[in-house]
Amino acid sequence: MIIAIDGPAAAGKGTLARRLAEHFNLAYLDTGLIYRAVGRKVLDDGADANDAVAAEVVARALVPADLERDGLRTDETAQAASKVSAVPGVRAALLDFQRDFAQAPPAGFQGAVLDGRDIGTVVCPDADVKIFISADVEVRAKRRVKELQDRVGEAIYARVLEDMMERDARDSDRAVSPLEPAADAHTLDTSNLDADQVLATALEIIGSRDE
Ligand code: C5P
Repeated sequence: MIIAIDGPAAAGKGTLARRLAEHFNLAYLDTGLIYRAVGRKVLDDGADANDAVAAEVVARALVPADLERDGLRTDETAQAASKVSAVPGVRAALLDFQRDFAQAPPAGFQGAVLDGRDIGTVVCPDADVKIFISADVEVRAKRRVKELQDRVGEAIYARVLEDMMERDARDSDRAVSPLEPAADAHTLDTSNLDADQVLATALEIIGSRDE
């Protein structure tokens, strides 16, 4: 079983994906982390995140240890990830790894759940279930502020909102693999739902797909 979950930042993709993985015994791949690792490494190498050649070189040489780097969850890294991920050569370099994970997940799992921006459209167009999860940008910014406050102790709402809108626009407007629902995706708006309600709705979607 392959489940594809796409959507913008802080819509609740990761929480839902992790819970579905646990529920169905699926391996989970956070594909945003891979783009973050590329963005972070480009910055750590002293290059500019808009440098397409540097980004592609890093993406082609990415190793699992890069996914453990410090600072992958910062907003600086998120912005860099969003810049490098618009480079076609970067996406091409990372595609096979994601597809292989979906087709042949680690031993012991019954399938895979991947979350990102283009899982249902490009990485796993034949996924058994596709869910496009979204929420109002203000709600998403508030969630991100809370997460940052819990993790690093401070966050300024106006700044988080601005960064999020900038990233949404870049991810949606890029020419290659833009953020958009697959034609056969189920859409799920989480603006007024908590994590339990999101899981329950997703389980309903999955349960009803063959009816
Ligand atoms: O999901 P997350 O916020 O960690 O993703 C960071 C960035 O990586 C996104 O803003 C997006 O630009 C990029 N990304 C992507 N395709 C994916 C996953 C993430 O372009 N499948």
